[in-house]
Amino acid sequence: PTVKEEPPVLAPRRKTRNFMVGDVGVGSDHQISVQSMTTTKTHDINATLQQIAELTASGCDIVRVACPTDKDAQALPIIAMKSQIPVIADIHFQPKYVYAAIEAGCGAVRVNPGNIRKFDDQVGEIAKMAKDHGVSLRIGVNAGSLDKRLMDKYGKATPEALVESAVWEAGLFEEHDFHDFKISVKHSDPVIMVQAYQMLAERGDWPLHLGVTEAGPAFQGTIKSATAFGALLSQGIGDTIRVSLSAPPAEEVKVGNQLLESLNLRPRKLEIVSCPSCGRAQVDVYKLADDVTAGLEGMEHPLRVAVMGCVVNGPGEARDADLGVASGNGKGQIFVKGEVIKTVPEDQIVETLIEEANRLAEQMELS
Ligand code: SF4
Repeated sequence: PTVKEEPPVLAPRRKTRNFMVGDVGVGSDHQISVQSMTTTKTHDINATLQQIAELTASGCDIVRVACPTDKDAQALPIIAMKSQIPVIADIHFQPKYVYAAIEAGCGAVRVNPGNIRKFDDQVGEIAKMAKDHGVSLRIGVNAGSLDKRLMDKYGKATPEALVESAVWEAGLFEEHDFHDFKISVKHSDPVIMVQAYQMLAERGDWPLHLGVTEAGPAFQGTIKSATAFGALLSQGIGDTIRVSLSAPPAEEVKVGNQLLESLNLRPRKLEIVSCPSCGRAQVDVYKLADDVTAGLEGMEHPLRVAVMGCVVNGPGEARDADLGVASGNGKGQIFVKGEVIKTVPEDQIVETLIEEANRLAEQMELS
């Protein structure tokens, strides 16, 4: 039997403790999870469950929901019960909602120590209740809501300040013998964020939840998150990730999954290898790549499809892929597993590639 080679990764995962968020394992013994957050009013149960279903379908592993009011807290039990993926309740300001979320059956609760009044006094009680219910926590430190004591000490949200806040809260939970929590130290500046996580990774074996907070609209947020997550993940740091975008949450999940796939931290699915086009192109490469991408949307199979604009690099790349086209002279040479299987007129390239991709996907399922 052939032994399947594991794809290379840039660094081994940093060793962490492990625990569960619902039925999803978190920590270095488990694969890195992709998270997102709903944008619906949590108390609008149908809309929230609908969005969770969409997120689940787009490959989200864990979903977070805001819980700012009594009505939201009351909606948590049904949301936690009906969601297909574990639900994390996001709590700021009001400790009473932490207790409500634990009782509601959420997989975890995110607490922001900078925003919960008299939080330190309540740690013992929260720890006991979470333990009794098998619920884990995230200590979510955020530059925008750093504990006032640390703002006074450092003047602004420096990496040291973020880490000190996190380590302080972690210590309080551990004093109460509670260990099932991950930590985040988010900042909107990727450089400060990376420095904070690097520092935090040295201080304990907590799983770390990566996020560049308020990263911005889709383009900027994607770049910021990819840069920062890439820097950390390439050092083995990071156990769950959330790409924050001012865009529909399913987009965050797509970016998160693509990021992990690009670093071989998750099995690659469909990959379109397309050239940037240049003065030699004999076909509209952008349109061809877009049409093929749209036609194969949702395909889960690990296919590499090459879309190349001319014969310079075209045949070479197309041959290396599972499937590909090298275009020229109004025609497309279609390659499957390195062999030219046919040449089709330009207007049939897209449909032929999609047909062949589906055929290869079927073969993969049978083998
Ligand atoms: Fe230019 Fe051809 Fe390379 Fe595409 S494959 S970038 S068209 S040389």
